[in-house]
Amino acid sequence: MSQQLGLIGFPLGHSISPVFQQAALDALGIDARYELWETPRERFSEISARLRAPDFLGANVTIPHKQEIRAYLDELDPTARATGAVNTVVRDGDRLIGHNTDVAGFIRAMRVDGRHELVEARVLVLGAGGAARAIVAAALLEGANSVTVAARRPEQARALVGELGARLNLNQQTSLEVTGLSADDEDLAEAAAECDVLVNATPVGMAWGHGGESHLLAPELLPPAALVCDLVYNPPLTPFLRLAADRGASILNGLPMLIYQGAAAFERWTGRPAPVDLMRRAAEEALRG
Ligand code: NAP
Repeated sequence: MSQQLGLIGFPLGHSISPVFQQAALDALGIDARYELWETPRERFSEISARLRAPDFLGANVTIPHKQEIRAYLDELDPTARATGAVNTVVRDGDRLIGHNTDVAGFIRAMRVDGRHELVEARVLVLGAGGAARAIVAAALLEGANSVTVAARRPEQARALVGELGARLNLNQQTSLEVTGLSADDEDLAEAAAECDVLVNATPVGMAWGHGGESHLLAPELLPPAALVCDLVYNPPLTPFLRLAADRGASILNGLPMLIYQGAAAFERWTGRPAPVDLMRRAAEEALRG
């Protein structure tokens, strides 16, 4: 019996996960299909039948279900518990285990592709949604010097920092701050001037639907000596990264993180080393269309 894997989220029209996950399954001769399981909020309860089907092997989870999925699982791994978000479901016999591979994916992307360690870094994160949770968790787990979360709804950033700080910053080794995300916010300007790592964890700049030319930060606030990351990977050079590069900063888009979180999920589902280079090539080809 062929086994089933899929991506649970909504909307999913532009996802390239099926392309690179299927390429990896086929290359290793694993008899499994990876599909898009588009699931709007109002149909989310139907997911239970899929997860408990005899041929279910595992799943990725994305917007808007990374938190809600926890109620359908038997156990969470320590990173999923710490972040409060699940992006990978793994079947272990009759049990369903929730993992968060975004955290490891981001750390690996920073290290391998960004050539930057998070230990002792001063990190500024724009946005306070699910992806920002993974970035803040990564920075805390790696021992960052400081983390500032900037959000247009500062209460969302305060909740994120409060929750993750209580779980991952027990000895307060990392200083945690919150600012607004508006042109005239002085705390934001100060955090941008001082940071070593700046991460766009909002969808602003995505090729579809989020206004490709909107600016999150005034160009003069982009730090020339920092590593500037955008979790968006389509287009590969987002407006945010283009401006940062123009200012002289090192830049990193979201594709390495996407591939590494997917590779970590693949290894948990199959118990086999993921063919990372092949997955990246398949993803790049899909993005070129
Ligand atoms: P999310 O949970 O919906 O959170 C998005 C965050 O961005 C929220 O804080 C939101 O604020 C803020 N935001 C949205 N539009 C904004 C705007 N115009 N100006 C300022 N802030 C804005 O989404 P997510 O899961 O965190 O994903 C964020 C991005 O990261 C997406 O593009 C996603 O594709 C990408 N991502 C990439 C990877 C990867 O592996 N490369 C992994 C995960 C996510 P409000 O709540 O006020 O709207």
